[in-house]
Amino acid sequence: MNVLSPRTLVMKFGGTSVGTPDAMAQTAEIIHRQRTLTPRLVVVTSALSGVTDILLSSATAAAHGDTTTYNQAVQTLRARHEAIIKSLIPDRSRQEEVKAEITLLILDFANLCQAISVLGEATPRALDAVASLGERMAVRLLAAVVDSAGTPAQYLEANRLIITDDHFQAAHPDFAATQIAARASLNPILDQGTVPIITGFIGATPQGVTTTLGRGGSDYTAAILGAVLPADEVWIWTDVDGVMTADPRIVPEARTIEELTYREVSELAYAGAKVLHPKTIRPVIEAGIGLRVLNTFNPEHPGTRLVAEKATPNGNVVKSVTAIRGLKLITVEGRGMLDVPGVAARTFSAIASTGTSVSLISQASSEQAICFAVPASSAEKVIAAIENEFYREIAGKDIDRVWATGEVVIVTVVGEGMRSTPGIAGKVFGALGERQINVIAIAQGSSEVSISFVLKAEDIRAAVQTLHERVISQ
Ligand code: ADP
Ligand code: ASP
Ligand code: MG
Repeated sequence: MNVLSPRTLVMKFGGTSVGTPDAMAQTAEIIHRQRTLTPRLVVVTSALSGVTDILLSSATAAAHGDTTTYNQAVQTLRARHEAIIKSLIPDRSRQEEVKAEITLLILDFANLCQAISVLGEATPRALDAVASLGERMAVRLLAAVVDSAGTPAQYLEANRLIITDDHFQAAHPDFAATQIAARASLNPILDQGTVPIITGFIGATPQGVTTTLGRGGSDYTAAILGAVLPADEVWIWTDVDGVMTADPRIVPEARTIEELTYREVSELAYAGAKVLHPKTIRPVIEAGIGLRVLNTFNPEHPGTRLVAEKATPNGNVVKSVTAIRGLKLITVEGRGMLDVPGVAARTFSAIASTGTSVSLISQASSEQAICFAVPASSAEKVIAAIENEFYREIAGKDIDRVWATGEVVIVTVVGEGMRSTPGIAGKVFGALGERQINVIAIAQGSSEVSISFVLKAEDIRAAVQTLHERVISQ
């Protein structure tokens, strides 16, 4: 358990930390203990594990005319939430109260799915309304559990606190408006010693329309609230002992990294390490707030501490290896490309017009090809947009073709010391070469704390395990 006791602290609990009666009891215990040390304690929670997936897949199925999936989901959602009510809220009338509130939200869910099935379309706005229900159920439950156990707690929905634009499914917060709204709602609750239990993941436009911050966005909620309050620290409670040398689901021997710089953790998060949402880091750096990643199921473990700078890098130069799945590499190539003005700029504005984000770019030094990675599901529309942009050059044979590979992954190694240590790339390629893993493309992060390379999808496990063994664990 952490002996430190910041005065104002935001603690965020992920889906697995609230997903079962045992997990939620453990979370309530952590909140209870921390409240005795921290006078101003703010809690952010995700939906119960798997619930957001259930909500979104039901809505998508409904858009295709499938009404069975959401009707089954109603049963599952009810059972999952009621199991927790029954085992963790002792008072009968309180149980009934919370049950009634959850039932209303499940009814909203069924009604929204019904409307989606009639329209035959699930708009991003409708999907956000559906997805928000998971966190809205979770806060009611957790607040009642914590409060019943004797720590005064009150739930709050973040659509009253986090003001965003209307970029549904990946909304951007307006920090100035959020600061005013969040302080106005939270300070009176904190001043009276109550713990606010707030929905992660969701916000609302100034008009009050519900938005979400993107999948995994509850971490970001904690960082936003930490920055605007401001808090002294933000602690992310999850189901592993902090940020590790690799995803322990791929590398069982992965170890906790005690201390990582913000730069390192940013690179890791953007490169696919799910343990922290990539947008979490910037608000805390800018507000000068401490950030930790801790394990709900092993709360005595010190986890990972994020720091601005590390005076002398000690230990391994390469700290962690991570991967992003489900991508395709698109190549725009042609011998006449040198003569085409603004080819890169036009390529990227064509990609941007499809709303797709690019994860890796490499240009051949001969300037005869540009190559970049996009989510596999977007490859087709990106190719169409680029072909459309360059139809003249394609007809004139300055550009020969625009094509996509089969599915690929990007594997990234991260570590601050890499910039001053020669030979890391060689070591990485040597290790992959020995395992006969073919590298399709490579890119070095601009901050020089990472190297990424593109591999065939089926090589992911072998590559991550080999690099962990050969480049990190030595
Ligand atoms: P939460 O629901 O608490 O937000 P997530 O599932 O989003 O949790 O993130 C935690 C998971 O991230 C871990 O269970 C682990 O499998 C995965 N993960 C991926 N890369 C790493 C890494 N480098 N260190 C720790 N966990 C990682
Ligand atoms: N519940 C949301 C999701 O599954 C947000 C989060 O868990 O951080 O994406
Ligand atoms: Mg997460």
